[in-house]
Amino acid sequence: MTPPRGTETPLMQQYREIKAQHADAILFFRMGDFYEMFFDDAELAARELGLTLTSRNNGGAANVPLAGVPVKARDDYLRRLVERGHRVAICEQIEDPKVAKGVVRRAVVETVTPGAILAEEWLDGVQNNFLVAIHAGTPVGVAAIDLSTGEFILESADPDDLEAVLARYAPRELVVAESHPPPDAAAMVTPRPDGDFAPAAGAATLTDHFALATLDGLGIGDDDRAAVGAAGALLRYVGDLQPAGLPQLARPRVVRPGAAMPIDEMTRRNLELVEPLQPGAGTTLLDILDRTVTPMGGRLMRQWVLAPLRDRAGITTRYDAVDVVVEDARGRERLREALDGVRDVQRLAGRTAVGRGTPRDFAGLRDSLARLPDVLSALDGLGAREASTLLETVAEGYDLHQPLVDRLHATLVDRPPVALGQADAVRPGADAALDEARALRDGGKRFIAELQGRERERTGIPSLKVGFNRVFGYYIEVTKTHRDAVPEDYERRQTLTNAERYVTPELKDYESRVLGAEERALAREREIFDELAHDVRERLPALQHTAERLATLDVVASLADVAARLHCVRPTLVDDRTLHLTQCRHPVVEQMLPPGRFVPNDIRLDAAERVMLLTGPNMAGKSTILRQTGLAVLLAQMGAFVPATAATVGIVDRVFTRVGASDNLGRGQSTFLVEMAETSAILHGATDRSLVLLDEIGRGTATYDGVAIAWATTEHLHDQTGCKTIFATHYHELTQLTEELQHARNYNVAVREVGDDIVFLHRLEPGGADRSYGIHVAQLAGAPASVVARAREILALLESGHHVAGERLPPPPDPQQLALFTPQDHPIMDDLRNLDPNRMSPIEALQWLLEVKRRLERP
Ligand code: ATP
Repeated sequence: MTPPRGTETPLMQQYREIKAQHADAILFFRMGDFYEMFFDDAELAARELGLTLTSRNNGGAANVPLAGVPVKARDDYLRRLVERGHRVAICEQIEDPKVAKGVVRRAVVETVTPGAILAEEWLDGVQNNFLVAIHAGTPVGVAAIDLSTGEFILESADPDDLEAVLARYAPRELVVAESHPPPDAAAMVTPRPDGDFAPAAGAATLTDHFALATLDGLGIGDDDRAAVGAAGALLRYVGDLQPAGLPQLARPRVVRPGAAMPIDEMTRRNLELVEPLQPGAGTTLLDILDRTVTPMGGRLMRQWVLAPLRDRAGITTRYDAVDVVVEDARGRERLREALDGVRDVQRLAGRTAVGRGTPRDFAGLRDSLARLPDVLSALDGLGAREASTLLETVAEGYDLHQPLVDRLHATLVDRPPVALGQADAVRPGADAALDEARALRDGGKRFIAELQGRERERTGIPSLKVGFNRVFGYYIEVTKTHRDAVPEDYERRQTLTNAERYVTPELKDYESRVLGAEERALAREREIFDELAHDVRERLPALQHTAERLATLDVVASLADVAARLHCVRPTLVDDRTLHLTQCRHPVVEQMLPPGRFVPNDIRLDAAERVMLLTGPNMAGKSTILRQTGLAVLLAQMGAFVPATAATVGIVDRVFTRVGASDNLGRGQSTFLVEMAETSAILHGATDRSLVLLDEIGRGTATYDGVAIAWATTEHLHDQTGCKTIFATHYHELTQLTEELQHARNYNVAVREVGDDIVFLHRLEPGGADRSYGIHVAQLAGAPASVVARAREILALLESGHHVAGERLPPPPDPQQLALFTPQDHPIMDDLRNLDPNRMSPIEALQWLLEVKRRLERP
């Protein structure tokens, strides 16, 4: 397909040179009104976008496959390619084709990838779009940038926690060193040269970017070397994607290992923190908590949910703030009302600062900033605000951005158009040069009317008209009947069927002034918007601070609102391993039931009783208790109040969850294998400060295997790990465990039997369930009566150790006979009781068995 170099057209040579530098991207090669793609790119785009594949002559006989998209429809095609995980390099003509000598010069001005999207309409308002780089090692260094908000985070983490850390950022693109590809990533992976990740080079890139002498100014120290390496690689990469210059970034926030609780995927999914177990169906914790009114508040809420804290001071600071806002219901409403109407200041400021903002974006920024005084007065009006250092800090550093707001008000019309040129975007009176150009432009209509009147009078042609068209500009039109009355100075331009069109020197002069005026007005508007962008850029760090503060207030107000509505309580934090929840509720399940129907329960876990074995029939509410306990702890540690009447919480280092429902068929693994892999991750990862929630471990295999695995797992967690554990199970055999484990207790979720029916009370009670109720549930689910009756019979056969096939239940034994033949009375039973099989060799066991059989046969 590739022709010999010498015969190639100059255009294709240029294409090839540019493509060589962007081999991993689809190249959108600008040619007039189209972006063209060639060779493999064309074939790929034709497949992905359904474009027609054509071909283009490339010198000699060689033809090149070609597909193109119109420039006007670029964004739509771009979006579809990027959403499918492709990267697209956009190559523009960088000189005017009219003045170009030879082939027009071209260059790639931007590469769009899943992690580097700036178009607002592609982004999810309440979710960040993080691009993340990883520096492998111990600790592992992580750097994350959201190009749309300018957020920049440097994080060091334990390698074991990497998956959990990444789950928190949910990146769509990962930048990794070539020699360290990640084993299994949902995101697009971009390998970069190992050298890019060197911490020393990273430090230089960072100090350069933020124009600092050393990194100390950013609060970055030696411990953050790996993260600095990742940050350096990330900045370089972003620089390559945007050769015209990086978007404005906020100064990096530094996150150290241990600050946030790592939440692994199992827990995030099983507790349905931010996404429901069944995609698209169900309510998550975030849905319940997120009553924020601004997009940046929404994003921050998500970050808080996914990164509960582990330090007491940090959590208490949040409680204090929520407390103040909970206590003052009117103040809370005022604050939320003031915040409502604040738009995405973070993204608006970022976009407008780099000149990507539309006039409407500037107006959005203006209107949002105009609400700042209301927010401040709502904040000032909060009763007992001084009780919260967080609220005090927000108020102290509060900036109204008055000069910028004034400038935006004075400059912009109330409702500017989406694009410059569609309608006037700058207010009349704001700029003298603009006003003048507009007067000329708008004076047009009056002038035309006057000219038409004058010319009709002069020529005596009553039907004479002055008009305009794009090709010929302004003209005077005279019908053919009046052709003879046309004066000398009329110059013919165009002949129509029934009329002639003329121009006069006066009209030509007017035309050049008017058309120029329109262009001048637009150019001046552009300049004014560039100046506004410059003003925003100057203030960008301060604006980003304001956006963060507004986000924090929004989250605090939202948590307070939820706390008040759902009657939540401020937890008491303690240093030991206690977890006492009084009358605790599941925040999501409760909302799904009619009011008052949810049955609250007390949960008590502490040093003395750290393992709770929870038995009870299906549907009784075991999983709900398990999950509400996990959610209560996560809520408590993210700084939220807890749905209970009292809560004492010893801070945990991790919450681990293994809930039966999540199978992983999508990844091609057997459900049981996944279950065991998850269980083993918990056994390895949990410490005595963890909370472990296990639901139905061992269900995916045969009963005895299952009981054995569940038993051994519980023993290990109790004896070795010493963590707080809730173990929900159908296996009522496991209730015996509490005889052996000192700190384990049995609980069951109560049901009442009414005849053959059961009524679910959803009440947690001490003591184990003495049997499973599977058959009841089958009956409840509408299984035919004959099947239910037969199932009861089979159950009885199995429980009495009978073979089932062909058997019916034997008649109940005669009690008299029963007394005579009770096996307990046989002398062999005593021997059996005294026997210790663990101390016998297989041969000894066999000999003993033969001996017993001999004694039974010849007593
Ligand atoms: P399975 O063993 O089948 O998974 P389970 O014992 O874990 O059942 P859950 O899934 O927790 O039961 O609860 C079943 C249903 O019972 C829930 O969907 C909910 O509607 C209701 N329920 C659970 N707990 C309560 C409660 N405390 N108060 C009121 N209703 C509840």
